Amino acid sequence: MQQVFGYPRFRGLQADIVSGAIAGDDALVLMPTGGGKSLCYQIPAIARRSNGQGLTVVVSPLIALMYDQVRALQEVGVAADCLHSALDYAQVQAVQQRARNGETTLLYAAPERITTPHFLDFLDHLASKGQLALFAIDEAHCVSQWGHDFRPEYRQLALLHQRYPQVPRMALTATADAVTREDIIERLQLQEAQVYVSSFDRPNICYQVVEKTDPRKQLLRFIEDEHPDDAGIVYCQSRKKVEETAQWLVEQGINALPYHAGLPAEMRQLHQDRFLREEGLVMTATIAFGMGIDKPDVRFVAHLDMPKNIEGYYQETGRAGRDGQAADAWMAYGLADVVNQRRMIDDPQSQASEAYRQVMRTKLDALLAMAETTDCRRVRLLAYFDEPSKPCGNCDNCLNPPKTWDATKAALMFLSCIYRVQQKSDMHFGAGHLIDILRGKMTDKVQQYEHQSLSTFGIGEGLSQQQWGAVVRQLVARDAVVADAQAFNTMRLGPAAKTLLSGQAQVFLRESERVAASGRGRMRK
Ligand code: ADP
Ligand code: ZN
Repeated sequence: MQQVFGYPRFRGLQADIVSGAIAGDDALVLMPTGGGKSLCYQIPAIARRSNGQGLTVVVSPLIALMYDQVRALQEVGVAADCLHSALDYAQVQAVQQRARNGETTLLYAAPERITTPHFLDFLDHLASKGQLALFAIDEAHCVSQWGHDFRPEYRQLALLHQRYPQVPRMALTATADAVTREDIIERLQLQEAQVYVSSFDRPNICYQVVEKTDPRKQLLRFIEDEHPDDAGIVYCQSRKKVEETAQWLVEQGINALPYHAGLPAEMRQLHQDRFLREEGLVMTATIAFGMGIDKPDVRFVAHLDMPKNIEGYYQETGRAGRDGQAADAWMAYGLADVVNQRRMIDDPQSQASEAYRQVMRTKLDALLAMAETTDCRRVRLLAYFDEPSKPCGNCDNCLNPPKTWDATKAALMFLSCIYRVQQKSDMHFGAGHLIDILRGKMTDKVQQYEHQSLSTFGIGEGLSQQQWGAVVRQLVARDAVVADAQAFNTMRLGPAAKTLLSGQAQVFLRESERVAASGRGRMRK
């Protein structure tokens, strides 16, 4: 490491991982982005090559990632090559010939290439001479359908172990919760592997979640107040929203560009290059943007829509502050996000099995709990990756402990309102109408259905519209209320309503701040 890479010492678990791999053990490495995963297999590759054990093959999902790594290795004098779809036949032959001659230390290749007959012949040849030193599988969460970036080609990689059982393997990922980890181990047959779990904490990232009121304006205020002229990424759910948001930001004087998989390849490349090279660009993107983008000074990652789960949230927010300087992860979140995510999971059109949907629901619930919590967000986040921690002092809740109020009674009012309305009209209604009933508003709809005669009419007039909104969101997040996406998001009692109705649970909500208070006493560069 000192001779080739010029670093004085190993970080964290690197030393153990490296010596294990040199000794020929299998490993599953979980290390956050920027933690230094590459060295974990690059150093064993160099050591095993010089021990006469041959070539290390690195499976990597993206050409851009491969190029970066190969270039960096070549710069420090390590013989590295890559094989990908942009090479012609002669180039592929040349790369393979160098490897057969024993001239190559690391060969990067895409997963779909690894399993082609041609490449397997090549591997067979090396294996027969004892010249396969190590298989490194980067972004290993892609093998799991529970992970947030499933790639079917990754499934085939189990073949490496079946075919070359004597060759040690290392799987690496920056994001995998307990379910995903188990699945990686099973899919890649890593039962014998050492599992190395680094701390997932990114102490320089300040986590903030705000309640959506006027999301665009909130975003603009966040950028203008906290990150004028900084580089950042704004994630949106849909391509359409990406384009609209980028355009709107530009109109507001922010230097923003759109990025999503539906844009022409040249434009994507151009926007990506500009983001990397220029200062202070805001990339408005779908999650298609990010993997392999190694820009150290991204000062903020903003979510205008809620991701699917904590793994996705963690991966996306992890792109902020790789240089170790203060950075922000900001998310705006509202009832519509909860309902949308639920609808996608429950979508009857999709082929997903019930078991799959159930896992996705549990994963979504963990993210909702993180968004709704009035305690330290980092504690929640790390706990999700099984890492105990103490309140961090660098998230919105730690910096500005939210005042809370006991919303248990209000929650019960809302649940009984759903029940009464159903009893009377044998119908279900949306949140807006139910809140009107509770607040005693004589709307046309209330009169049409005679809902002023309900015992719940007007019993909740003491709470504001916004407070009711928070109550409903919390109830949906807890599964006490289910919004029926097939019927205009009408509300029904959910499976968890019982626990609340029987008095076994309490609901505490944050008091909504008029102005999202953030930035006070923050960690700064
Ligand atoms: P990851 O793949 O886990 O996101 P990288 O392997 O790209 O992280 O490493 C992140 C950065 O940290 C790189 O610039 C790398 O050179 C540097 N790095 C890794 N290990 C060390 C070390 N032991 N000492 C100093 N810098 C390191
Ligand atoms: Zn905190």
